[in-house]
Amino acid sequence: MNNCSDCNYKAKNEDEKARPNCAVIGVYNHPQASIAAYYALHALQHRGQEASGITTIYYDEVKKKNKYAFHRGEGLVLDVFGKSEILNERLKGTSAVGHNRYSTTGGASSSNIQPFNMIYQSGILSLAHNGNLTNTKELKQRLQAEGAIFQTTTDSELFMHLFAKSKEVEIKDQILDTLRTVRGAYSLCIITEKGLFAARDPHGVRPLSLGKLNVDGNISYIVASETAAFDILSAEYIRSIEHNELIHIDEDTIKTGVVKSYQIESEKPVSKHCIFEYVYFSRPDSLIFGTPVDKVRRKLGKNLALESPVELDNPNDKINVIAVPDSGNTATLGFAKINNEKVGNSDYEIGLIRSHYVGRTFISPGQNNRELKVKTKFNTVKGIIEGRNVVVVDDSIVRGTTSKSLIKLIREAKPKKLHMRITSPPVKYPCHYGMDFPSKEELIANHYESHEDIGNAIGVDSLSYLSLDQLLASVPQEEGIGYCTACFDGNYPIALDDETIEIRDNE
Ligand code: SF4
Repeated sequence: MNNCSDCNYKAKNEDEKARPNCAVIGVYNHPQASIAAYYALHALQHRGQEASGITTIYYDEVKKKNKYAFHRGEGLVLDVFGKSEILNERLKGTSAVGHNRYSTTGGASSSNIQPFNMIYQSGILSLAHNGNLTNTKELKQRLQAEGAIFQTTTDSELFMHLFAKSKEVEIKDQILDTLRTVRGAYSLCIITEKGLFAARDPHGVRPLSLGKLNVDGNISYIVASETAAFDILSAEYIRSIEHNELIHIDEDTIKTGVVKSYQIESEKPVSKHCIFEYVYFSRPDSLIFGTPVDKVRRKLGKNLALESPVELDNPNDKINVIAVPDSGNTATLGFAKINNEKVGNSDYEIGLIRSHYVGRTFISPGQNNRELKVKTKFNTVKGIIEGRNVVVVDDSIVRGTTSKSLIKLIREAKPKKLHMRITSPPVKYPCHYGMDFPSKEELIANHYESHEDIGNAIGVDSLSYLSLDQLLASVPQEEGIGYCTACFDGNYPIALDDETIEIRDNE
C-alpha cells in the first residue's frame, strides 16, 4: 500500500520497486514564482508521478490585499500545467509552494492533492508535506473531539488544523508548536504572507535543501527535496536544511542574506536519514543530506564488488557488467571497476535499454502481463549478452516478480552465465516514514531461507546482496548523523502508533 504522507488511501503498489514518496518545493521573492516552481517540480518528477500542484501568494492591486491562487491535478507536471495561462496568468505572485505525489490508482480523492491552502487567523497559509506522521490516530481523534472536520484522508491535513488551533501569535511559533506535537517523518514547505518556512523533522528522515538564485540582482530563495531542482533553475546550492530545523525566509532575508533558523526540539537528536534515498529514490545528480548521491552509489557498487565479486570460470573469460537502468547505472560503474581490479576481465557494458514511454499494457492470449510490462520497459542488447558471462546490477529487490521477468528477458538473449548483484540488503519490512512498499508478506526476502534460494526463484546463477554493514560503510558517517535502516532490519527509529503498524501490516 501507499505509505506517502497523503496516502492513507488504498492504492496498491504493483510495481517491483518501492515507490518514492513525494517532492516538495518552495519559492520566495521570484518574479515568476509559479514558473520557477513548475521547473523545480519537473526536475523532481521521479518522486511523485501521479499528481502535482502549485499555490502562489500575490498582491491584489484592486482589493489592496494578499490573495492566493492554486492549481492541482492528477498526472505528470507537464500534463497538470500544460496550459500556459495557468502559470502565466492564474498563478500570479512572487512566492510559491509545490508538490508532486503518487496518488491512488483507484478510489483516492483528488482532495488529497497538495499543496493544502487555508485562510485563518494569521492570514493565508499553504503547505506541502513529504513524509508520514506516526501519531496520526491519536492527533486526529483529539482534533475531531474538539470539533475539527477533516476534508481529506491524509495525515498532512493534521498540520493545518494544528497551525490554526495554536494559541501562539507569531506564525513561526504556531509552526514550532505544531512540529512539537506531531511525530514522524516530515519535510515541509510552507508559504504565508510573512514569508517562506521550511522544516525537517527532528530525525530528518526525508531530505530538504536550500538554494538561492540571483537574476540581475534580484535574489530569490528556493527550497526543494533534491538539488536537481536548483540545477534546472541555475540556482546556487546553499546547504541542506538540518534535521530538527525550521527556517524562515522573509523580506529581511532578502535585504540581509540572513536565513532565520530555529530548533524544533530543544535537544537535537541524532539524525535518522532515510538510507534508501541514497540507494534508489533520489536522482544521482542531486545532493541529499548534503552529499552527492552519485558518490554514494558508486561506493555502494564498489563495496558490493569487494564483498561479493563475480569470479571468472577460467582466465580467458570476460565478464560484462550491466545495469538495470536508470537507477542501477551509477552503482554498476563502481561494481565493474572493482570487479575488474579483483578478478580482471570485467567491463561495464550497456546491455539493457530502457524505454521511457511506457503506458498501459494490453494482454493477448498466452501472454503474461508482468512479462509484457517488463518487455515494454526494457530490451536487451544481444551482442553484449549472448554467450557471455553477465552480471546484472540492481539497487533492490522488493517483490521479486519484476526481477524474475527481467531475468527471463535477459535469458532470452542467451548469456553463458547470468549473475545478479544488489546494492542493498534484502528488503524485509515495510516503511512507515513516507515510502510506498508492498506488505511484509509480499516481500520476496520473507519467503526464502537464503539468498541462494531467492536467486534460484528469480532464475540467476548466483545472487548476492550488499550487507547492512557495507551499506552503512558506503554513506557519510559523522557525529550526530545516523540512518534509518528499518526496511532492512526492522529497527524503526521513530515510535509508531498502533494504527500505523496495523494499517501497514494489512495493506
Ligand atoms: S524504512 Fe527504509 S525507506 Fe523507510 S525511511 Fe527507513 S530506510 Fe527509508
